[in-house]
Amino acid sequence: HEDGPPLKGAKLDEEGLGSVVASHYNNLEEKGLKERSTSRIFHLRNSNNWIKSYLINYCLDQVRERQVDHYPVSVFDLGCGKGGDLLKWSKGNIRHLVCADIAQTSMDQCRERYTNTRKRTGGGHGGGFTAEFIVADCTKKRIKPMLENPSRQVDLVSCQFAFHYCFESLAQAETMLRNVSENLKRGGYFMATIPNAYEIMSRLKSSGSHRFGNEVYTVEFPEDRPEDPPIFGDRYNFFLEGVVDCPEFLVHPPTLIKLAKKWDLELEWKRDFSTVYSDALKDTLCQRLLSVMNVLETYPSKEEQVTETEVEYTHARQFLE
Ligand code: SAM
Repeated sequence: HEDGPPLKGAKLDEEGLGSVVASHYNNLEEKGLKERSTSRIFHLRNSNNWIKSYLINYCLDQVRERQVDHYPVSVFDLGCGKGGDLLKWSKGNIRHLVCADIAQTSMDQCRERYTNTRKRTGGGHGGGFTAEFIVADCTKKRIKPMLENPSRQVDLVSCQFAFHYCFESLAQAETMLRNVSENLKRGGYFMATIPNAYEIMSRLKSSGSHRFGNEVYTVEFPEDRPEDPPIFGDRYNFFLEGVVDCPEFLVHPPTLIKLAKKWDLELEWKRDFSTVYSDALKDTLCQRLLSVMNVLETYPSKEEQVTETEVEYTHARQFLE
């Protein structure tokens, strides 16, 4: 995967924090089901996982409704991690999956998980789609998958809890959006879950300090954060017990919407998690899925709630198999 030409108008950036982020995810321990189920963020993880399932199903339905060609659905999972959404793609009956992530170890685990499921099921449930795996900093490299369909583009790009890393600089945000746009069929969907910058700012303000959090999570900005912070590179450290301890970047929503438009991506749907959650609860099928996935009937309590920044990895399979 060669580098693309420099982006017009984008500042070419220096080293950046990509290697810190990659090394954090590369060194994450794989935790067993037992350990995960006794974790203090058990319900939070399940709720976030459930929300991803809900959004993925919603988007796959939209894609199928609007599809202009007749090829089976293909998906690009950008920042796929260890493959936490593999089962969701399988249940969504897709034909091809492109996985990309900056962390080599996570990608190895993702590939292994995919291969094992495929072996176990003989290519049926859990492995009914082909897949390719790309290790790359998607905020700096142009990603060109080896797709099987003639348009060489996907119907859906999904970026779960990973897009905010590109707001380190304008150049990185542009490269990330270009990777979305160039690989998406006309009329296709891009869906992403990102930390809620407004909520983070409001909690920071109430804290009267440069950090806030509770027993399980902390968001910490540099003490010398300028009063008028930059739109790109507004860094904080996010700590979530047993899961994350890593620099992240605030995503300024109006900037994201404007930049995405430049890359031919029009905003169609935007919700915070608690709204998605309460809307979905009106649907009986969703209620059933909530109980199967061991999710609370209300969005996690303040104690567990850590804004939309929480990270969730892999656990759909354990609840649905
Ligand atoms: N999407 C997965 C999920 O929902 O289970 C993983 C989410 S995890 C919180 C964030 C992922 O983003 C990590 O796997 C990390 O390696 C990946 N990531 C961070 N920066 C990246 C970059 N510049 N390019 C590609 N992946 C990146």
